[in-house]
Amino acid sequence: MAKYTEQMDEEERMENFISDLLLRAVADRASDIHIEPAGANIRIRFRIDGILKDQETLPIYDLERIIIKIKVLSNLDIATHSMPQDGHFEFMVELPTEAIKKKRNETPKRTHLTDAVSRLYSKTPVEHIQEEEGVSRERAEKTILDEGKRRLDIRVSAFPTIEGEAIVLRILNREEILLSLEELGMSQDVLQKVRNMITRPYGMVLVTGPSGSGKTTTLYAVLREILTSERNIITLEDPVELNLEGVRQVQINPDRQFDFAQGIRSILRQDPDAIMIGEIRDGETAENAIRTSLAGKIIYTTVHANTVIGTIARLIDMNIDRSLIAYAINGVISQRLVRKICTNCKIAYDPSGASRKYFGLEGYDTRYVKGKGCSECSGTGFRGRVGIFEVFAFDLDLRSLIVERSSMATLQDYVQRAGMISLIDDAREKILAGLTTAEEAMRAV
Ligand SMILES: [Zn+2]
Repeated sequence: MAKYTEQMDEEERMENFISDLLLRAVADRASDIHIEPAGANIRIRFRIDGILKDQETLPIYDLERIIIKIKVLSNLDIATHSMPQDGHFEFMVELPTEAIKKKRNETPKRTHLTDAVSRLYSKTPVEHIQEEEGVSRERAEKTILDEGKRRLDIRVSAFPTIEGEAIVLRILNREEILLSLEELGMSQDVLQKVRNMITRPYGMVLVTGPSGSGKTTTLYAVLREILTSERNIITLEDPVELNLEGVRQVQINPDRQFDFAQGIRSILRQDPDAIMIGEIRDGETAENAIRTSLAGKIIYTTVHANTVIGTIARLIDMNIDRSLIAYAINGVISQRLVRKICTNCKIAYDPSGASRKYFGLEGYDTRYVKGKGCSECSGTGFRGRVGIFEVFAFDLDLRSLIVERSSMATLQDYVQRAGMISLIDDAREKILAGLTTAEEAMRAV
């Protein structure tokens, strides 16, 4: 009997630990929690605004218990330690709205978390409210929002390292991922160009940038922008990041021979108007996608490249015919994410000579600001992030240059003369507007 109680205490302790960890991460606006073995300790880090920050360490003997608890929550195999595993779970926290939080100086409190966590996989928080109160799904979702509750999806990755398993919890906060194009930080000029190319009835719009630059968030914003019940929108994603109402989302499963290339081959029979492809990774997918767009569909997708012209080079590299590239693409959006200056601790400062030169800041008579570091921004001087965008809508001249096998340097030269807003231009605007610092922008652009 004594042993039983001890075990229960241990269970509860782990559950509380994980709840508190998640709540703290949410309060600190972390996007990921890293839990890993490090010698005699467990190292815990939060990724906040793109940068990892050390949290407390725990003695290593707790690691196994923590991992088992997380695996149980996310329906993973607790007996497997030597293979990577992916899963997810969902829970609810009660976050006071910003205004109330400021007034009361409160951090989120633990509420139905333990409850919600223990019911995972039998019911989601939304389903729970639906059932308890006998209301519709929309009503239940609204209840959650009205009461300042947040539904969070947690994506779990367990990975074997030589020291033991490392766990990464990605926190997907619907309110933060589902942003509009304006909220991403697109200027009016950029917005107008983007809207023109995404609302055409056919063609391709490519979003490009390194990983972690917010490409999926941009694609979701695009889909929400064009979403009406008159259009059938289908996505092929790996993984599906968030559920979008009114969109037919499809999870790609390469292990079962259902990859992007296969998906795009079959998708036309689902009678789509618009198609979102999570990522083009190979020539076959690229070619299928381009041919589908030429058949009169609009396709939104991402490609791993750094700039607008880099994207064209990448497709040529995949052996795609130049005339297909030239005539299928409506335009390219290249992007980066930079940290925003904390508005609570702004002070005047002088950007470094190198960064002034890089962004062409000479000649501007501006009072530059940076964050000094305060409790609101955990001493970093930054809070939140904003996108930097480079956008070019393909025109006839660029299409001809591509078909004529012009060099990438010629293409670059052309788009600049044709008035492309480059990453550097957009970053300069945001530095001058006091949104970010020149040094921070230089890290990303
Ligand atoms: Zn601050």
